[in-house]
Amino acid sequence: MNWHAIAFENILEEVSSSTQGLSGDEAATRLEKNGPNELEEKKRKSPLMIFLAQFKDFMILALLFAAIISGVIGEMTDTLIILIIVLLNAIIGFVQEYRAEKAMQMLKKMAAIQATVQREGTVLKLPSADLVIGDVVLLDAGNAVPADLRILEAHSLRIDESALTGEALAVDKSSEIIETENIPLGDRLNMAYKSTLVTNGRGLAVVVATGMNTEIGKIARLLQEGEMSTPLQRRMADFGKRLSLIILGICIILFGVGLLRGEAPLDMLLLSISLAVAAIPEALPALITIALALGAKHLVQQNALIRKLPAVEALGSVSFICTDKTGTLTMNKMKVVQVQEETIADHHFPLSPLRMAMALNHDVRFSKGEEAIGDSTELALVEFVMEEKGRSAFNELSASFPRVAELPFDADRKCMSSVHAFKDRYVVFTKGAIESIARCLADQKNAEKLFSLNEEWAAKGLRVLAFAYKYIDVLPDPVSIEALEKDLVFTGLAGMIDPPRPEAKAAIGECKTAGIKPVMITGDHPATALSIAKEVGIWNGKGYCVTGAELEQMSEDDLQEKVEHISVYARVSPEQKIRIVKALQSKGHSVSMTGDGVNDAPSLRAADIGVAMGINGTDVSKEAADMILLDDNFATIVKAVREGRRIYDNIRKFVKYIMTCNGAEIWTIFLAPLAGLPIPLLPIHILWINLVTDGLPGLALANEKAEEDVMRRPPSKSDESLFAGGVAFHILWVGLLMAGVTLATQQWAVTNQLAHWQTMVFTILSLSQLGHVLAIRSDKTFLYMQGIFSNRLLIGAIAITVVLQLMIIYLPFANEIFKTQPLTRKELLICIGMSAVVFHAVEMEKWIKRNLAKRSAKISLK
Ligand code: ATP
Repeated sequence: MNWHAIAFENILEEVSSSTQGLSGDEAATRLEKNGPNELEEKKRKSPLMIFLAQFKDFMILALLFAAIISGVIGEMTDTLIILIIVLLNAIIGFVQEYRAEKAMQMLKKMAAIQATVQREGTVLKLPSADLVIGDVVLLDAGNAVPADLRILEAHSLRIDESALTGEALAVDKSSEIIETENIPLGDRLNMAYKSTLVTNGRGLAVVVATGMNTEIGKIARLLQEGEMSTPLQRRMADFGKRLSLIILGICIILFGVGLLRGEAPLDMLLLSISLAVAAIPEALPALITIALALGAKHLVQQNALIRKLPAVEALGSVSFICTDKTGTLTMNKMKVVQVQEETIADHHFPLSPLRMAMALNHDVRFSKGEEAIGDSTELALVEFVMEEKGRSAFNELSASFPRVAELPFDADRKCMSSVHAFKDRYVVFTKGAIESIARCLADQKNAEKLFSLNEEWAAKGLRVLAFAYKYIDVLPDPVSIEALEKDLVFTGLAGMIDPPRPEAKAAIGECKTAGIKPVMITGDHPATALSIAKEVGIWNGKGYCVTGAELEQMSEDDLQEKVEHISVYARVSPEQKIRIVKALQSKGHSVSMTGDGVNDAPSLRAADIGVAMGINGTDVSKEAADMILLDDNFATIVKAVREGRRIYDNIRKFVKYIMTCNGAEIWTIFLAPLAGLPIPLLPIHILWINLVTDGLPGLALANEKAEEDVMRRPPSKSDESLFAGGVAFHILWVGLLMAGVTLATQQWAVTNQLAHWQTMVFTILSLSQLGHVLAIRSDKTFLYMQGIFSNRLLIGAIAITVVLQLMIIYLPFANEIFKTQPLTRKELLICIGMSAVVFHAVEMEKWIKRNLAKRSAKISLK
């Protein structure tokens, strides 16, 4: 339907609606009939699909092949056991992946956008999925357009349609009818399309199409996002592939050597396959994703909503946090505390021009319950006049001076103007930052006085707004900045406080000990900014405070040289934030940047972690962000960093654990023949260690609490390998140690002709892993200091594993299946004693590390 060509009067009739909007009942009926206003997503993986996908793995196929071979050579119990192991593996994989998928779905739902709708004359916020045809929608700068709309009213309304048309420049919209029926979407100036973004002004519009019937819906299938993979995951996948080749090589050699030594070919084949399956870390990239997704779920409980998974990983390496002031560091509860009024004789208003402007020049609306809703600066002004003059006088003013035109506030211009009908003329009220108003005054003499008073107030931490006005006889066409914002008469100043958030100071302190530099970037006056920065601890007298104007003058080289030492940026426009991000990144920093406005989107995208505000942020900034603060609070960013570091640490511990275990298995099997020993383990033993002993405790490592010093050490580099900082070395030496302990026991047992040597080898290798997992729970803290029970899940997993291992050793039917024998008490004690070696050795590693750290600290003090 060509909605743009329908006459204005007929539109609402066409969609059976009215200017008041639909009734709740009617909307519910329509929603029932036409379905939600959502784009269909790529088929979500059903639980069954997730489960079946567990078997797609090449290694699993190899195992199934091994099961068949076992069957062929008549080892039916082996076949059965391998099948059970494959199934258990799939179940564990499925449970993990399903939980992660659910977590991501929940996060996605929470990040869904809201629309402002008028129903039965009342303005409400609804999830945009609930919109139906005929709904009357209010559009504001910063909103994402929630459905396809025909515009009924437009005030400087400008929309970025690049998502739909590819046109990079935003388009000016109007409500006028366009007669030509078949014109391209980009020319339909009285329409607004779903998923485009309002960059300027405001408007009123009616929904004409929803969900898959919208223009974006028609092409939605082309736009489906691909699977997102994180840098860490990509690096791991890459590494995994190379490692797999090496392990396959080892297994082939093992097979060849076995044949030369005269072992049975099929037995050797089974052993080689089992070893390959156990040692190749195929599942690591997937496990990392799961850890990140579950981490994201944890983060949302702390009010940090992750929109893009790689952000969880990037959080750990943030070295600069650039933050807004208003609302993030402060409470965003403004209150006018000081007013300075000019005496103006020739006005004809019921109140002074300053108070008239406070009462009329704003976008504050009132909800059904008469609660004022709007920008905190404007709320403060409105509340100030309402308190002084009373609510009814305020209402009367709004009614008798109707607004006929406006130039909305924008953070670059830093002011706003509204035009009101007044007798047979018009009056223009403008309010904004001092500099902006000074620019527009007819009499520049006044400006001097303005500046000195402003400095004085700002130094006390007040946000200062200046006001001005003028009369005009005719409404300019078009209503432009050039026409309205000049030749104004200054009317006065208002100063308001916005106290810092109580938790901000502690959070900033935490940043500093964590090697992260907090930086304030604000549109406010430098004196106001510095006063708050001092109060919360961002500014300590050292470093630089730079204004937007100074930034403008700085060359790129100059900025790069200073950027690490600048703590406060004041009077900056959102466009300049991107320069700051780029300069910091060029110095090798990982930057988190907050933003709430439309113009903040580019800098949020450029930052390593773009952070949007959940309460006061625009849809545009949320769409561009990696993370949304549900409480708009600076302290939440710091909490998220802490959590990000914990998650990263735990992933590293997990990788360390799994790789060491795999290494130990390979070394044991590979080195045994070199030491002249028989093959130490059967394929089933290897698979068991891999699935149960490695698997269960390994998963529980993700539950480990943060290291004691997690916020007392510098951030890790964003491109740092998981194997950096001694991890690779640990994997090597502990793997060799485990194999050494195992083989030494085997040697001893074989020499002493103990019939149970193989069960002993199997048990030592299993129990060593458990000792290892206990020791690597922390990188530096000894287990006894950490408390054994501080990770209950892990202790549970270890207990289960021990019980299962004992069952395999002592239950007759398990003996048959696993080809084990009950150990004597002495043998069991030897196994326990030998496997404790690894635990103590790793604790010793910590001791050495702590001493080395102490020594280097001493040296650096000297
Ligand atoms: P921060 O970046 O710390 O959050 P901010 O975003 O509140 O600060 P802006 O909203 O960009 O900063 O405001 C910059 C300046 O514009 C303010 O110092 C004030 O002088 C002026 N200003 C803010 N809000 C309005 C408004 N509603 N009408 C007119 N001028 C305003």
